Amino acid sequence: MRTGIATVCLSGTLEDKLAAAAHAGFDGVEVFEPDLIGSRLSPSEIRIQAAELGLSIDLYQPFRDFEGVPNRQLERNLRRAEAKFDVVEALGADTMLVCSNVSDETIDDDGLAAQQLHALADRAAERGIRVAYEALAWGRRVSEYDHAWRIVQAVDHPALGICLDSFHILSRGTNLAAIADIPADKLFFVQLADAPHLVMDVLQWSRHYRSFPGQGGFDLSDFTARVLDAGYAGPLSLEVFNDVFRQADPRRMAIDAMRSLLTLEESVRAGSSRRLPPPASLHGYAFVELAVDPASVGETQRLMHAMGFAQTAQHRSKPVALWQQRDARILLNAGAPTAPGIAAIAVESADPGRSAARAEALLAPVLSRQRGPDEADLSAIAAPDGTSVFFCRTDERSDMRGWLQDFDPLSPIGRAASTGLTHIDHVALAQPFDYFDEAALFYRSMLGLEPRESLELAAPDGLVRSRAVTTADGRVRLVLTVPVLAHDAAQAGGLQHVAVACGDIFLVAQRMRERGVGPLSIPDNYYDDLAARLDLEPDLIELMREHDVLYDRARGGEFLHFYTPTVGERLFFEVVERRGDYDGYGAANAPVRMTAQRAPATATEAAFAHERAQATPAEREGDGAYNAA
Ligand code: MG
Ligand code: MG
Repeated sequence: MRTGIATVCLSGTLEDKLAAAAHAGFDGVEVFEPDLIGSRLSPSEIRIQAAELGLSIDLYQPFRDFEGVPNRQLERNLRRAEAKFDVVEALGADTMLVCSNVSDETIDDDGLAAQQLHALADRAAERGIRVAYEALAWGRRVSEYDHAWRIVQAVDHPALGICLDSFHILSRGTNLAAIADIPADKLFFVQLADAPHLVMDVLQWSRHYRSFPGQGGFDLSDFTARVLDAGYAGPLSLEVFNDVFRQADPRRMAIDAMRSLLTLEESVRAGSSRRLPPPASLHGYAFVELAVDPASVGETQRLMHAMGFAQTAQHRSKPVALWQQRDARILLNAGAPTAPGIAAIAVESADPGRSAARAEALLAPVLSRQRGPDEADLSAIAAPDGTSVFFCRTDERSDMRGWLQDFDPLSPIGRAASTGLTHIDHVALAQPFDYFDEAALFYRSMLGLEPRESLELAAPDGLVRSRAVTTADGRVRLVLTVPVLAHDAAQAGGLQHVAVACGDIFLVAQRMRERGVGPLSIPDNYYDDLAARLDLEPDLIELMREHDVLYDRARGGEFLHFYTPTVGERLFFEVVERRGDYDGYGAANAPVRMTAQRAPATATEAAFAHERAQATPAEREGDGAYNAA
């Protein structure tokens, strides 16, 4: 599979775009006309520069409003085309894209369109150039690929073929069966773009919301499989117009783009990708590492203690403590050079080496870590949001050199009794506004997770978008959130949380309250609404009200959960009890939670908030951290 990317996908000058595409390993590019017109380089200089970078120029695009015009305009249109063929030649490209006419004056006559395209193909053939005809979803007379194909068939000229653009086809919901009827030698070019499902004008949708494959709602693997089954052997080329990508770092975007193609290739070839080691099976979270600044160490420890975690081990060379309860493990890192919050997540991998090799093949930045001579060599990569991701295997009984070997066990004297927490259920990470789609694809492809529905939640300070990615069996669950509109302050949407599972939510709430830190208090109105909406036992509602437990149900399963007060600048915990087949995260309750977090209601919440206000930002100790580069 040859890979390509249209220069319009990336920001910067044409030189920046070419460099970024080459850096990410693309085989070729489509030169987008406005990028060429705005460049100080001549077409032949562009050709040289691309060649030096190892890139072919596969397409020049777009040439507009050609076919279906009154015949008196044909000569003028052909002259326009000849001038562009000069550019195509100088670029060393062999194909020019012609998109269907959007002008209101276009004549509704396929015979006329075919005649005029035949004349264009004759001129192209004289220059050894091919013309790829693309149906724009908003074309005036031709807006479906099968219609464009009927015209190309009528023209029957070796220099005229078709360009299939997944956006134009999937946005209209056109039946894909006719792709199989197009002979391979007439499939001149294929452009790939995904997009979220939106109900809006298709032109605006295309210009602003296209995304890389796997980042939207279209079934790109089915589309691509059909194109390859039809015998298409040219590049799979990304053509994405997106407001956010246009202002992002082009190198970073090019890598994101390449990662999407690698992942797409893997999904099309059903796991037999040439380039990617398959994902290793993941069995849950090994640990979550929290960076705590000195001002919030006290309250974090107090909260962990109340939740029934005990400090069971201390890292041998770093200021990192392991707090544990059954299989729920939290590392508190008092010396991390990162911002307070979740610094790292570690997943239990059946084959950590393969997980790391896959991540590297997917162009993830691999972190080099400082470690002592006898300490475990953990594979770690950096996610787009700055979180480190570790692949490891925890085996407390074996002699294998796992990560736990770097910790000295502490004596169990005086440990608090467990509250019944069993393991980490999910981790919720707030994402920077510009990198949400990139992050979702990153975590999904690295860890082999499946995307779940994307939701919009009303926080008191704005809308928050949330998307979960999970293993098929739900053992690794990750929730990514981002404000729908960019804003500066890290408010409710900027908070992160670690959710821990239990078998008896009321017992956990009870024991926590006895230890002085109860759940985040939830307004009575919530419970009155619950009673009105659902026919739940009044006793259960009263119990939930008493313990500030929230409730959701779906698919015959139930979800009971509560939140803790926030510690440090932006971290809180959630305790969850899943009953039956419930597979969600209580999203319906998130707005209630976010509003409750705005206004401390209990003495404990107020005390935590007060500590936060009083704390003077102390110097962080820089190196020596568990997770330091
Ligand atoms: Mg296109
Ligand atoms: Mg949650």
